[in-house]
Amino acid sequence: MDESEFQILDKGGVAAMEPSVSCEGAFFSRTDTSVSFGGYTSKLLEISPSESLEVMYGHRVTGIDQANGTLELREGFGNVRRIGARCILNVSGGESLKIAKMAEAAKEYSVLHFRGDYWMVGPGMSPRPRHNIYSVPKHSEYPFLDPHYIIRHDGTAEVGPTASLVSGPDKYPRSDAELRKGPSDLLSRPLMPKARLFLNREFLSLVREEWRSSASRSHMARRVKKFLPGMDEKYLTERGLSGIRHSLVDRSGFVPEAVTIVSGRSFHVLNFNSPGATGAPAYAAYVIGMMGSSGLIDPRKINTRDGGNRLWGRSLDTVFSAMGY
Ligand SMILES: Cc1cc2nc3c(=O)[nH]c(=O)nc-3n(C[C@H](O)[C@H](O)[C@H](O)COP(=O)(O)OP(=O)(O)OC[C@H]3O[C@@H](n4cnc5c(N)ncnc54)[C@H](O)[C@@H]3O)c2cc1C
Repeated sequence: MDESEFQILDKGGVAAMEPSVSCEGAFFSRTDTSVSFGGYTSKLLEISPSESLEVMYGHRVTGIDQANGTLELREGFGNVRRIGARCILNVSGGESLKIAKMAEAAKEYSVLHFRGDYWMVGPGMSPRPRHNIYSVPKHSEYPFLDPHYIIRHDGTAEVGPTASLVSGPDKYPRSDAELRKGPSDLLSRPLMPKARLFLNREFLSLVREEWRSSASRSHMARRVKKFLPGMDEKYLTERGLSGIRHSLVDRSGFVPEAVTIVSGRSFHVLNFNSPGATGAPAYAAYVIGMMGSSGLIDPRKINTRDGGNRLWGRSLDTVFSAMGY
Protein backbone atom coordinates (compact mmCIF):
# COMPACT_ATOMS: atom_id res chain seq x y z
CA MET A 1 0.00 0.00 0.00
CA ASP A 2 1.03 3.56 -0.65
CA GLU A 3 1.61 5.59 2.54
CA SER A 4 -1.19 7.95 1.60
CA GLU A 5 -3.64 5.04 1.85
CA PHE A 6 -3.33 4.48 5.59
CA GLN A 7 -2.76 6.14 8.95
CA ILE A 8 -1.64 4.75 12.33
CA LEU A 9 -3.92 6.09 15.06
CA ASP A 10 -3.37 6.18 18.81
CA LYS A 11 -6.17 5.84 21.36
CA GLY A 12 -7.15 9.54 21.09
CA GLY A 13 -7.05 9.43 17.30
CA VAL A 14 -9.47 6.49 17.28
CA ALA A 15 -11.77 8.20 19.81
CA ALA A 16 -11.92 11.33 17.62
CA MET A 17 -12.71 9.36 14.48
CA GLU A 18 -14.91 6.59 15.91
CA PRO A 19 -16.36 7.54 19.34
CA SER A 20 -18.14 4.17 19.64
CA VAL A 21 -14.87 2.19 19.49
CA SER A 22 -12.64 1.40 22.45
CA CYS A 23 -9.05 0.33 21.72
CA GLU A 24 -5.40 1.26 22.33
CA GLY A 25 -4.69 2.14 18.69
CA ALA A 26 -5.61 1.31 15.14
CA PHE A 27 -4.47 0.93 11.58
CA PHE A 28 -6.83 3.09 9.52
CA SER A 29 -7.13 2.05 5.90
CA ARG A 30 -8.39 4.92 3.74
CA THR A 31 -9.04 2.57 0.81
CA ASP A 32 -11.05 -0.02 2.74
CA THR A 33 -14.18 -0.80 0.77
CA SER A 34 -17.29 -2.95 0.64
CA VAL A 35 -18.10 -5.07 -2.40
CA SER A 36 -21.29 -6.83 -3.47
CA PHE A 37 -19.72 -10.18 -4.34
CA GLY A 38 -23.11 -11.53 -5.49
CA GLY A 39 -23.52 -8.55 -7.83
CA TYR A 40 -19.98 -8.98 -9.12
CA THR A 41 -20.48 -12.69 -9.83
CA SER A 42 -23.86 -12.08 -11.51
CA LYS A 43 -22.24 -9.56 -13.84
CA LEU A 44 -19.50 -12.05 -14.78
CA LEU A 45 -22.17 -14.67 -15.55
CA GLU A 46 -24.12 -12.12 -17.62
CA ILE A 47 -21.15 -11.34 -19.88
CA SER A 48 -19.94 -14.97 -20.08
CA PRO A 49 -21.94 -16.06 -23.18
CA SER A 50 -20.57 -13.15 -25.22
CA GLU A 51 -17.05 -14.35 -24.28
CA SER A 52 -17.85 -17.90 -25.50
CA LEU A 53 -18.00 -19.24 -21.96
CA GLU A 54 -20.61 -21.81 -21.02
CA VAL A 55 -21.75 -22.10 -17.41
CA MET A 56 -23.18 -25.50 -16.44
CA TYR A 57 -25.33 -25.39 -13.34
CA GLY A 58 -26.17 -28.47 -11.29
CA HIS A 59 -23.08 -30.40 -12.39
CA ARG A 60 -20.35 -31.70 -10.13
CA VAL A 61 -16.81 -32.69 -11.16
CA THR A 62 -16.45 -36.30 -10.08
CA GLY A 63 -13.34 -37.42 -11.93
CA ILE A 64 -10.35 -36.38 -14.01
CA ASP A 65 -8.72 -38.61 -16.61
CA GLN A 66 -5.30 -37.02 -17.02
CA ALA A 67 -4.13 -39.46 -19.71
CA ASN A 68 -7.03 -38.70 -22.07
CA GLY A 69 -7.53 -35.11 -20.90
CA THR A 70 -11.18 -35.55 -19.89
CA LEU A 71 -13.22 -34.17 -17.08
CA GLU A 72 -16.05 -36.31 -15.72
CA LEU A 73 -19.12 -34.39 -14.59
CA ARG A 74 -22.20 -35.72 -12.89
CA GLU A 75 -25.56 -34.02 -13.21
CA GLY A 76 -27.23 -34.21 -9.81
CA PHE A 77 -27.16 -37.88 -8.83
CA GLY A 78 -27.73 -39.03 -12.42
CA ASN A 79 -26.18 -38.55 -15.86
CA VAL A 80 -22.45 -38.65 -16.28
CA ARG A 81 -20.99 -36.32 -18.89
CA ARG A 82 -17.41 -36.25 -20.15
CA ILE A 83 -15.75 -33.13 -21.51
CA GLY A 84 -12.43 -33.17 -23.35
CA ALA A 85 -9.96 -30.59 -22.10
CA ARG A 86 -6.52 -29.46 -23.17
CA CYS A 87 -5.96 -28.24 -19.64
CA ILE A 88 -8.00 -28.04 -16.46
CA LEU A 89 -8.00 -25.19 -13.93
CA ASN A 90 -9.34 -26.31 -10.57
CA VAL A 91 -10.57 -23.39 -8.45
CA SER A 92 -13.41 -25.17 -6.71
CA GLY A 93 -13.09 -23.78 -3.18
CA GLY A 94 -14.20 -26.45 -0.69
CA GLU A 95 -13.68 -29.30 -3.15
CA SER A 96 -10.37 -28.08 -4.61
CA LEU A 97 -8.37 -30.57 -2.56
CA LYS A 98 -10.66 -33.47 -3.49
CA ILE A 99 -10.35 -32.58 -7.19
CA ALA A 100 -6.55 -32.13 -6.94
CA LYS A 101 -6.36 -35.63 -5.46
CA MET A 102 -8.36 -36.96 -8.43
CA ALA A 103 -5.42 -35.64 -10.50
CA GLU A 104 -2.93 -37.47 -8.22
CA ALA A 105 -1.76 -34.20 -6.62
CA ALA A 106 -1.64 -32.69 -3.11
CA LYS A 107 -1.61 -36.04 -1.33
CA GLU A 108 0.17 -34.59 1.71
CA TYR A 109 -2.67 -32.18 2.52
CA SER A 110 -5.88 -32.52 4.50
CA VAL A 111 -8.64 -29.94 4.81
CA LEU A 112 -10.76 -28.64 7.67
CA HIS A 113 -13.92 -26.61 7.09
CA PHE A 114 -14.97 -23.71 9.32
CA ARG A 115 -18.36 -22.05 8.96
CA GLY A 116 -18.42 -18.32 9.56
CA ASP A 117 -21.76 -16.99 10.79
CA TYR A 118 -22.64 -13.30 11.05
CA TRP A 119 -25.34 -11.52 13.06
CA MET A 120 -27.20 -8.48 11.71
CA VAL A 121 -26.92 -5.27 13.75
CA GLY A 122 -30.32 -3.61 14.04
CA PRO A 123 -30.97 0.16 13.78
CA GLY A 124 -31.30 0.57 17.59
CA MET A 125 -27.57 0.72 18.24
CA SER A 126 -26.31 4.29 18.58
CA PRO A 127 -23.67 5.63 18.16
CA ARG A 128 -22.41 3.10 15.67
CA PRO A 129 -19.14 2.96 13.72
CA ARG A 130 -18.87 4.70 10.37
CA HIS A 131 -16.11 2.35 9.20
CA ASN A 132 -15.47 -1.40 9.20
CA ILE A 133 -13.84 -2.30 12.52
CA TYR A 134 -11.54 -5.33 12.78
CA SER A 135 -10.16 -6.48 16.12
CA VAL A 136 -6.76 -8.14 16.50
CA PRO A 137 -7.09 -11.96 16.47
CA LYS A 138 -6.62 -13.59 19.87
CA HIS A 139 -5.18 -16.83 18.44
CA SER A 140 -2.72 -15.35 15.97
CA GLU A 141 -1.18 -18.73 15.08
CA TYR A 142 -4.48 -19.83 13.50
CA PRO A 143 -5.73 -18.34 10.25
CA PHE A 144 -8.98 -16.84 11.58
CA LEU A 145 -10.12 -13.31 12.13
CA ASP A 146 -11.80 -12.51 15.42
CA PRO A 147 -15.30 -11.02 15.07
CA HIS A 148 -15.47 -7.66 13.35
CA TYR A 149 -18.11 -5.02 12.63
CA ILE A 150 -18.71 -4.55 8.94
CA ILE A 151 -20.85 -2.25 6.87
CA ARG A 152 -22.14 -4.05 3.78
CA HIS A 153 -22.34 -2.41 0.34
CA ASP A 154 -26.08 -1.69 0.93
CA GLY A 155 -25.43 0.11 4.25
CA THR A 156 -26.57 -2.75 6.53
CA ALA A 157 -24.19 -3.74 9.34
CA GLU A 158 -23.21 -7.17 10.63
CA VAL A 159 -20.88 -8.61 13.24
CA GLY A 160 -18.99 -11.85 12.78
CA PRO A 161 -17.83 -14.20 11.46
CA THR A 162 -17.35 -17.13 13.76
CA ALA A 163 -15.12 -20.03 12.71
CA SER A 164 -17.18 -23.10 13.65
CA LEU A 165 -15.64 -26.41 12.72
CA VAL A 166 -18.02 -28.34 10.43
CA SER A 167 -17.68 -31.72 8.81
CA GLY A 168 -17.88 -30.81 5.12
CA PRO A 169 -17.56 -27.99 2.56
CA ASP A 170 -21.28 -27.22 2.44
CA LYS A 171 -22.49 -27.92 5.98
CA TYR A 172 -24.77 -25.03 6.74
CA PRO A 173 -27.25 -26.36 9.34
CA ARG A 174 -26.27 -24.84 12.64
CA SER A 175 -26.01 -27.86 14.88
CA ASP A 176 -22.99 -29.40 16.54
CA ALA A 177 -24.69 -32.76 15.96
CA GLU A 178 -23.77 -32.42 12.29
CA LEU A 179 -20.25 -33.43 13.25
CA ARG A 180 -21.56 -36.94 13.77
CA LYS A 181 -23.17 -37.09 10.33
CA GLY A 182 -21.21 -38.59 7.46
CA PRO A 183 -19.52 -38.61 5.06
CA SER A 184 -17.15 -36.35 6.91
CA ASP A 185 -13.97 -34.67 5.74
CA LEU A 186 -12.84 -34.84 9.36
CA LEU A 187 -12.04 -38.50 8.77
CA SER A 188 -10.54 -38.19 5.29
CA ARG A 189 -6.88 -39.11 4.80
CA PRO A 190 -4.19 -38.16 5.69
CA LEU A 191 -5.35 -38.13 9.30
CA MET A 192 -2.06 -37.20 10.98
CA PRO A 193 -2.14 -33.40 10.28
CA LYS A 194 -5.65 -33.17 11.78
CA ALA A 195 -4.85 -35.49 14.68
CA ARG A 196 -2.03 -33.15 15.77
CA LEU A 197 -4.46 -30.22 15.90
CA PHE A 198 -7.06 -32.16 17.84
CA LEU A 199 -4.48 -32.92 20.50
CA ASN A 200 -3.72 -29.21 20.87
CA ARG A 201 -5.52 -27.60 23.84
CA GLU A 202 -5.45 -24.09 22.43
CA PHE A 203 -7.04 -25.25 19.18
CA LEU A 204 -9.75 -27.13 21.07
CA SER A 205 -10.52 -24.08 23.19
CA LEU A 206 -10.82 -21.97 20.03
CA VAL A 207 -13.19 -24.54 18.48
CA ARG A 208 -15.39 -24.48 21.61
CA GLU A 209 -15.51 -20.68 21.74
CA GLU A 210 -16.41 -20.40 18.05
CA TRP A 211 -19.22 -22.96 18.33
CA ARG A 212 -20.66 -20.97 21.22
CA SER A 213 -20.59 -17.70 19.23
CA SER A 214 -22.39 -19.38 16.32
CA ALA A 215 -25.09 -20.77 18.57
CA SER A 216 -25.56 -17.86 20.96
CA ARG A 217 -26.09 -14.19 20.15
CA SER A 218 -25.24 -13.16 23.72
CA HIS A 219 -21.83 -14.85 23.39
CA MET A 220 -21.16 -13.00 20.13
CA ALA A 221 -22.34 -9.70 21.65
CA ARG A 222 -19.91 -10.15 24.57
CA ARG A 223 -16.98 -10.66 22.18
CA VAL A 224 -17.87 -7.56 20.16
CA LYS A 225 -18.46 -5.50 23.31
CA LYS A 226 -14.70 -5.66 23.99
CA PHE A 227 -14.11 -3.17 21.15
CA LEU A 228 -17.63 -1.71 20.79
CA PRO A 229 -18.74 -1.06 24.40
CA GLY A 230 -22.24 0.00 23.26
CA MET A 231 -22.95 -3.45 21.79
CA ASP A 232 -25.72 -5.49 23.39
CA GLU A 233 -27.36 -8.73 22.36
CA LYS A 234 -30.66 -6.87 21.82
CA TYR A 235 -29.06 -5.11 18.83
CA LEU A 236 -28.22 -8.42 17.11
CA THR A 237 -31.62 -8.72 15.53
CA GLU A 238 -31.25 -11.75 13.25
CA ARG A 239 -28.74 -14.05 11.63
CA GLY A 240 -26.81 -12.54 8.75
CA LEU A 241 -24.66 -14.15 6.07
CA SER A 242 -22.81 -17.43 6.50
CA GLY A 243 -19.88 -18.76 4.54
CA ILE A 244 -17.51 -21.70 4.87
CA ARG A 245 -13.76 -21.33 4.93
CA HIS A 246 -11.68 -24.31 3.77
CA SER A 247 -8.30 -24.45 5.48
CA LEU A 248 -5.52 -26.77 4.36
CA VAL A 249 -3.48 -28.53 7.00
CA ASP A 250 -0.23 -30.39 6.64
CA ARG A 251 2.33 -31.82 9.08
CA SER A 252 3.23 -28.28 10.25
CA GLY A 253 -0.39 -27.29 10.99
CA PHE A 254 -2.48 -24.74 9.08
CA VAL A 255 -1.05 -23.74 5.69
CA PRO A 256 -0.95 -19.92 5.82
CA GLU A 257 -1.30 -18.95 2.15
CA ALA A 258 -2.93 -20.15 -1.07
CA VAL A 259 -1.19 -23.11 -2.71
CA THR A 260 -0.85 -23.69 -6.46
CA ILE A 261 0.05 -27.06 -7.96
CA VAL A 262 0.61 -28.22 -11.54
CA SER A 263 -0.11 -31.90 -12.17
CA GLY A 264 0.05 -33.12 -15.76
CA ARG A 265 -2.40 -31.00 -17.71
CA SER A 266 -4.16 -29.62 -14.66
CA PHE A 267 -3.55 -26.56 -12.48
CA HIS A 268 -4.95 -26.46 -8.93
CA VAL A 269 -5.54 -23.55 -6.56
CA LEU A 270 -5.97 -24.71 -2.96
CA ASN A 271 -6.47 -22.84 0.32
CA PHE A 272 -7.65 -19.66 -1.42
CA ASN A 273 -8.84 -17.85 1.72
CA SER A 274 -6.80 -14.74 1.27
CA PRO A 275 -6.48 -12.51 -0.73
CA GLY A 276 -10.14 -13.52 -0.71
CA ALA A 277 -12.95 -12.52 -2.99
CA THR A 278 -11.66 -8.93 -3.16
CA GLY A 279 -8.25 -10.09 -4.35
CA ALA A 280 -9.63 -12.71 -6.76
CA PRO A 281 -9.46 -10.66 -10.00
CA ALA A 282 -5.80 -9.78 -9.44
CA TYR A 283 -5.04 -13.32 -8.32
CA ALA A 284 -6.70 -14.63 -11.51
CA ALA A 285 -4.22 -12.56 -13.55
CA TYR A 286 -1.43 -14.10 -11.47
CA VAL A 287 -2.79 -17.65 -12.07
CA ILE A 288 -2.94 -17.05 -15.83
CA GLY A 289 0.70 -15.93 -15.64
CA MET A 290 1.68 -19.12 -13.83
CA MET A 291 -0.31 -21.33 -16.21
CA GLY A 292 1.54 -19.59 -19.04
CA SER A 293 4.95 -20.09 -17.52
CA SER A 294 4.25 -23.77 -16.83
CA GLY A 295 3.30 -24.30 -20.48
CA LEU A 296 -0.37 -25.15 -19.87
CA ILE A 297 -1.63 -22.17 -21.89
CA ASP A 298 -0.21 -19.54 -24.19
CA PRO A 299 -1.08 -16.30 -22.32
CA ARG A 300 -0.38 -14.22 -25.38
CA LYS A 301 -3.39 -15.77 -27.11
CA ILE A 302 -5.85 -14.64 -24.46
CA ASN A 303 -8.69 -12.51 -25.81
CA THR A 304 -9.76 -9.85 -23.39
CA ARG A 305 -12.87 -7.69 -23.45
CA ASP A 306 -11.15 -4.57 -24.69
CA GLY A 307 -9.88 -6.60 -27.66
CA GLY A 308 -6.27 -5.96 -26.80
CA ASN A 309 -3.63 -7.91 -25.00
CA ARG A 310 -4.57 -6.37 -21.68
CA LEU A 311 -5.39 -7.86 -18.33
CA TRP A 312 -6.12 -6.29 -14.97
CA GLY A 313 -5.85 -2.79 -16.42
CA ARG A 314 -2.30 -3.23 -17.62
CA SER A 315 -0.68 -4.97 -20.54
CA LEU A 316 0.02 -8.67 -19.96
CA ASP A 317 3.72 -8.01 -20.53
CA THR A 318 3.79 -5.55 -17.61
CA VAL A 319 1.84 -7.94 -15.38
CA PHE A 320 4.11 -10.88 -16.17
CA SER A 321 7.37 -8.95 -15.86
CA ALA A 322 6.21 -7.60 -12.47
CA MET A 323 5.68 -11.22 -11.46
CA GLY A 324 9.13 -12.18 -12.62
CA TYR A 325 8.15 -14.14 -15.76
C1 LIG B 1 -17.33 -16.13 6.55
C2 LIG B 1 -16.45 -15.63 5.45
C3 LIG B 1 -16.29 -14.26 5.24
C4 LIG B 1 -15.49 -13.80 4.22
N1 LIG B 1 -15.38 -12.45 4.03
C5 LIG B 1 -14.64 -11.98 3.03
C6 LIG B 1 -14.54 -10.58 2.80
O1 LIG B 1 -15.12 -9.76 3.53
N2 LIG B 1 -13.78 -10.14 1.76
C7 LIG B 1 -13.13 -11.03 0.94
O2 LIG B 1 -12.46 -10.58 0.03
N3 LIG B 1 -13.19 -12.36 1.13
C8 LIG B 1 -13.93 -12.86 2.14
N4 LIG B 1 -14.00 -14.21 2.34
C9 LIG B 1 -13.19 -15.11 1.53
C10 LIG B 1 -13.83 -15.42 0.18
O3 LIG B 1 -15.20 -15.75 0.35
C11 LIG B 1 -13.10 -16.59 -0.48
O4 LIG B 1 -11.71 -16.36 -0.47
C12 LIG B 1 -13.54 -16.76 -1.93
O5 LIG B 1 -14.94 -16.96 -2.00
C13 LIG B 1 -12.86 -17.97 -2.55
O6 LIG B 1 -13.21 -18.00 -3.88
P1 LIG B 1 -13.07 -19.31 -4.75
O7 LIG B 1 -13.57 -18.98 -6.11
O8 LIG B 1 -11.68 -19.86 -4.59
O9 LIG B 1 -14.02 -20.40 -4.06
P2 LIG B 1 -15.59 -20.42 -3.90
O10 LIG B 1 -16.15 -19.03 -3.78
O11 LIG B 1 -15.88 -21.39 -2.82
O12 LIG B 1 -16.11 -21.01 -5.30
C14 LIG B 1 -15.87 -22.36 -5.64
C15 LIG B 1 -16.93 -22.80 -6.63
O13 LIG B 1 -16.65 -24.14 -7.06
C16 LIG B 1 -17.85 -24.90 -7.05
N5 LIG B 1 -17.52 -26.32 -6.82
C17 LIG B 1 -17.05 -26.90 -5.70
N6 LIG B 1 -16.87 -28.23 -5.88
C18 LIG B 1 -17.23 -28.49 -7.16
C19 LIG B 1 -17.27 -29.68 -7.95
N7 LIG B 1 -16.87 -30.89 -7.49
N8 LIG B 1 -17.69 -29.59 -9.23
C20 LIG B 1 -18.07 -28.40 -9.74
N9 LIG B 1 -18.06 -27.24 -9.05
C21 LIG B 1 -17.64 -27.29 -7.77
C22 LIG B 1 -18.66 -24.31 -5.90
O14 LIG B 1 -20.03 -24.59 -6.08
C23 LIG B 1 -18.34 -22.82 -6.03
O15 LIG B 1 -19.22 -22.19 -6.93
C24 LIG B 1 -14.80 -14.71 3.38
C25 LIG B 1 -14.96 -16.09 3.57
C26 LIG B 1 -15.77 -16.54 4.60
C27 LIG B 1 -15.93 -18.03 4.79
